[in-house]
Amino acid sequence: MTDQKVAIVTGGARGIGRAIAVELARAGYYLVINYRANDQAAEEALAMVRAAGSDGEKVKFDVREAAAVDAALQDIFSRFKTIDVLVNNAGITADGLFIMMPEEDWNSVIDTTLKGFYNMTKPVLKKMVRNKRGSVVSISSVAGLVANRGQANYSAAKAGLLAASRSIGAEVARLGVRMNVVAPGLIETEMIRDAPIERIKEVIPMNRIGKPEEVARVVRFLCSDDASYITGQVIGVNGGMF
Ligand code: NDP
Repeated sequence: MTDQKVAIVTGGARGIGRAIAVELARAGYYLVINYRANDQAAEEALAMVRAAGSDGEKVKFDVREAAAVDAALQDIFSRFKTIDVLVNNAGITADGLFIMMPEEDWNSVIDTTLKGFYNMTKPVLKKMVRNKRGSVVSISSVAGLVANRGQANYSAAKAGLLAASRSIGAEVARLGVRMNVVAPGLIETEMIRDAPIERIKEVIPMNRIGKPEEVARVVRFLCSDDASYITGQVIGVNGGMF
């Protein structure tokens, strides 16, 4: 068992999750980088964590699969005294107008975000509560706060994430664990490769897309002792969009 501070980032191989992993590595955490399929991206993320001066490991599992999550977490728990940080970042989109939406697209988006949140957060939170310390940050979206045509499944999932975080945050606030949510606007990753960027930029007061690092720095702050009196909050990182 080692004493090093440990952070788990779901979907930590690419995009925002990768930037969060690197930022937390800079802050001295050992990184557990979860991902679902892209081995090469996970390898690159791990190399970046090491280049940032820390160490870590990549762990491949689907956050929707309770048994797979459980097996991975039991292995991690057997090797580390504490889990200091959990970032629920894994998420997908399957956009379409609600009246045309296949059940599969509803389920896959809700399951990745909310079942994934349940599968990960419950066991990690138990460990954090036992150790009387820990910080959970979940990545929601501006779509969880305002209307967004074509994203009923995604909006529902992201709104659920922040509602659950607030309630659980109130349950564990006296037990040394903080739960917060970051709600990004449009951030430059593969997820938005098909989005009409130029049109969307017009409704962003800063008139630009955000960078993954701009989300990651807020997550790092929320995980740190500098945020010791912040829990149950939703922080927007959206260029003034909302
Ligand atoms: P990307 O599509 O770039 O990366 C998603 C990551 O999540 C990948 O590492 C992927 O793994 C992983 N992942 C997806 N499904 C699962 C699963 N079932 N189990 C484990 N890992 C999974 O997304 P972004 O970086 O853009 O988004 C990260 C988070 O931020 C998401 O929750 C997203 O909803 C949210 N967000 C993004 C915004 C944006 O504009 N980009 C705006 C607001 C919120 P693999 O590569 O192996 O498939």
